[in-house]
Amino acid sequence: DPLIHGIQSKIRVVPNFPKPGIMFQDITTLLLDPKAFKDTIDLFVERYKGKNISVVAGIEARGFIFGPPIALEIGAKFVPLRKPKKLPGKVISEEYVLEYGKDCLEMHVGAVEPGERALVVDDLIATGGTLCAAMQLLERVGAEVVECACVIELPDLKVEDMEYVSHLGLE
Ligand code: 5GP
Repeated sequence: DPLIHGIQSKIRVVPNFPKPGIMFQDITTLLLDPKAFKDTIDLFVERYKGKNISVVAGIEARGFIFGPPIALEIGAKFVPLRKPKKLPGKVISEEYVLEYGKDCLEMHVGAVEPGERALVVDDLIATGGTLCAAMQLLERVGAEVVECACVIELPDLKVEDMEYVSHLGLE
């Protein structure tokens, strides 16, 4: 698909960042190309418009780049899922396990109502741990997670086996 290849060609791979052995997928180079950036947003909008989604939840930090333009186009609100101690209001928290250590996502209480239909957005899925924590937060307040959308899939896990995840086929 030429559209997908156009998007893929704009993502820079940086070896040994942030640690030796890691091939970091850098989406900032995609943002420098307005057409490729818009193509990326449009593909998700096409998939999710008309699906009755009322909330797009974006994961800090790069879910804050892709989530809001999708939310505006499909007529949904945007809710940031943040790292600990960043949100000023009352929050609920979900811890998750990383390769080394732990991390946590927080969401403002009252941002999402029971019964809302949610889309979770991030730039990249590796183990899926971050997306799972995001889904937990939304489900704990009674929302239904329709799907998780990310731009890049790392081959750590077979995302094909996770039917709730959509990605653009970038690996
Ligand atoms: P997971 O929880 O699926 O193992 O890791 C996904 C999370 O790590 C995402 O929030 C993503 O932003 C971040 N991440 C891990 N590796 C990379 C990478 O190579 N590039 C980018 N842009 N993000 C990464």
